[in-house]
Amino acid sequence: MTRNWELKECDQEFFQKELSTFVPDRIFDAHAHLYKTVHWGRPGETMQGPDVVTFEEYQRHMKWITPRSQTEGLFFGTGFSDDRFKDSNEFVAGEVANQRNSRGEMVVSPRMDPEEMRQEVKRLGFSGIKVYHLFVQDERTWDADIAKFLIEDHVRIANEEGWTITLHMVKQRAMAEKANQERILEYCRKYSDIKLILAHAARGFNPYHTIEGIHHLKGLQNVWCDTSAVTEAGGFEAIVETLGHERLLWGSDFPVSHGRGRCIAVGDHFVWLGEETLDWKTVAAYGPIEPILLGLESLRSLKLATQRLKLSDSQTEDIFSNNARRMLDINT
Ligand SMILES: [Zn+2]
Repeated sequence: MTRNWELKECDQEFFQKELSTFVPDRIFDAHAHLYKTVHWGRPGETMQGPDVVTFEEYQRHMKWITPRSQTEGLFFGTGFSDDRFKDSNEFVAGEVANQRNSRGEMVVSPRMDPEEMRQEVKRLGFSGIKVYHLFVQDERTWDADIAKFLIEDHVRIANEEGWTITLHMVKQRAMAEKANQERILEYCRKYSDIKLILAHAARGFNPYHTIEGIHHLKGLQNVWCDTSAVTEAGGFEAIVETLGHERLLWGSDFPVSHGRGRCIAVGDHFVWLGEETLDWKTVAAYGPIEPILLGLESLRSLKLATQRLKLSDSQTEDIFSNNARRMLDINT
């Protein structure tokens, strides 16, 4: 147990005060990672925590942020490189195989042969694919065009098979970037049977980017957004207002949910304030600050959005579970 990886009394008090009447009994986590530490390939940089996160280990940890809920989910690995993604996928497939109400996505390299991808997703029983910018070679990956890590040949097969695709877009202004808007529109119009999930509220870590750009996707029937690791309410509000509450999916981004702090907008950027980013004891003139788990911050932001938009309990339950289950055709 390290300083960075523990449940504290302040977390429990926060849940009790802010969230206990908000989080439903049955929830579906639309964005969570299962892994062995070795899949990350970055020892030392990895989130602190258990070395092996099985489905059961994940369930145990979810009690830290949603202590009373029964959780199902859509899971993927963390092997975001050509030499690690296959091991990572085998592990996730094994963990999800016996979970009737959960699903997995296969992490895919843009260099994977499209037909091999089709066969592997079927062999491993996945519902779709998870793509990531770290696979892009020879450039600043955080500035990559979507098509560099979600190639059209893969989208074409996802369309033929009716798969989900979880996409964490990059570039500084994310949804407010014309290049991202155009690529998403092109893929979603041309391949109407894909189910595209824009991770992190359309990467709205700075909510103003999602607020500015999400209206470009209005009218698309095959795009969803997950709430994972976002700790500002504005992006959630813009998504619900523009696309409808049916298109927002709660997600934890476990293990990111179990770090301590927030991700906030600063100017036209965003910055992660983690436990090590600053000295929480001295940063505020009035006294020490106790940061809480990021997953709890994200839940409070979602609560704020649902309050401001006056969503009903059943609409909130849709965001927490029914929307994802419908998208994935889970009827049990
Ligand atoms: Zn993630």
